[in-house]
Amino acid sequence: MEKLALILDADDTLWENNLFYERAVDAFAGRMAAEGFDPLEARATFDQVERERVPVVGYAPEEFVRSMALAYHRLCDRHGQAPETGVEREVVAIARQVIDYPIVLLDGVAETLPILHRCCRLIVLTKGDRQVQQDKVRRSGLECYLEAVHVVAEKGVQTLHDLLRRYQLDPRCTWMVGNSPRSDVNPALQAGIGAVYIPYAFPWSFEDAAIVESERFVRLERFSQLLEHFSLPEAA
Ligand SMILES: [Mg+2]
Repeated sequence: MEKLALILDADDTLWENNLFYERAVDAFAGRMAAEGFDPLEARATFDQVERERVPVVGYAPEEFVRSMALAYHRLCDRHGQAPETGVEREVVAIARQVIDYPIVLLDGVAETLPILHRCCRLIVLTKGDRQVQQDKVRRSGLECYLEAVHVVAEKGVQTLHDLLRRYQLDPRCTWMVGNSPRSDVNPALQAGIGAVYIPYAFPWSFEDAAIVESERFVRLERFSQLLEHFSLPEAA
């Protein structure tokens, strides 16, 4: 039997990520309310700007900052107000909180990953800006447990086929582990490997999708349940 291989998502699977983005959007809505805008409209406007821009510019935090400034301008335009430089500066400062946020590992990750490392091959597959993502892996302190880290612009079926070939992974013993139905679960199932879905407490609606039917789909509530699911001895 081949060794079990887990391809791990990083943001919101190994560590907190979207929480920091949610906080920034909350602060933006609050700041826009202080300018007389409806906070719900401010939030919806920002979401719309992101949905338009992410497919074009990707996931770099600097682009999140630009999207927030653009959302402020769009609100001003819609309501016939002139944007103010001082307010825009504050909006940019709010959005910049997502740059270099502290790495906070999710529950059970610190205890579980060393055990998985002894029994499985572990490869991180994360999407976003290469330098930003590699820096987060380095700051996480988890690098010593990982065989490889791959940063891609988007995760798709072909990304997983490439990894299977590159690392000579047997699809029958390979599972993607992640929090995103759109980016982790569905591409894995379509690529013929297993998918372990571990929902995150503060999900980004952009990552939502209907999960495709498969016998190799598993939902767990916590990262540490991987040990039980794969019958791995906790003190191996
Ligand atoms: Mg994720």
